Amino acid sequence: MNRLLVEQAAHRAGIELSVGMTEQVCEFIELLKETNDKINLTAITDDEAIATLHLEDSWRVSAHIPENATLIDIGTGAGFPGLALRIVRPDLDVTLVDATLKKVTFLQKVIDLLELDATTALHARAEDLGRDQDFRDCYDVAVARAVTALPVLSELCLPLVKRGGRLIAMKGSDDQTAQSKRAIRMLGGELEEVIRYELPGMDWPRSLVIISKKEMTAFRYPRRMVTIRNSPL
Ligand code: SAH
Repeated sequence: MNRLLVEQAAHRAGIELSVGMTEQVCEFIELLKETNDKINLTAITDDEAIATLHLEDSWRVSAHIPENATLIDIGTGAGFPGLALRIVRPDLDVTLVDATLKKVTFLQKVIDLLELDATTALHARAEDLGRDQDFRDCYDVAVARAVTALPVLSELCLPLVKRGGRLIAMKGSDDQTAQSKRAIRMLGGELEEVIRYELPGMDWPRSLVIISKKEMTAFRYPRRMVTIRNSPL
């Protein structure tokens, strides 16, 4: 992985990288590329695109995560944004969740290789964790990129967030908030802010949708995935 591209991506996202962090990011991406030759983890494979679409995009979230927060990344895939964030934010306690086992196996390999502490890779479905006492109401921040539409995502993520915490949904040019008002309210959330930004080489802006959890989520949520899909809030 080209170091300069990593450093430039960090700089644009307002992240200061130590030499050790740059090294860790490069090791992570090298293992990603190597593993991707055998099993499909991501469609983005050249250094330039990885630096902007994966790393810079992930790091853009950092400014909205309080110091020493517990963070859960739902549908993290190959570790974006959660693992990319953990490397540059050693203060965070990060839980990476994905429903696909091969992705979680890859994440665990990176965690072991980089000897990251306070980092957990979990093979699970968000809707199951949301009904589990050990995970519900536990996190300062939930984050998710490219997982599902915002009303569904809110039902998957808000139950996991502590009251007073926040969900940060990484979206494209359509922030999807217009169709999500009712869902957010019913789950105890409140739309705080939508932040727009651009990535180099991309024609469309990106948005960070920040939803704060004001009230406890009612026990009937999250529902089973079939129900969530068939009758979204
Ligand atoms: N966040 C990553 C991956 C996006 S692909 C990125 O932006 O690059 C969406 C991922 O979400 C897939 O890896 C899929 O396995 C996972 N996923 C979808 N529904 C899920 C659920 N209900 N619980 C946990 N993971 C889920």
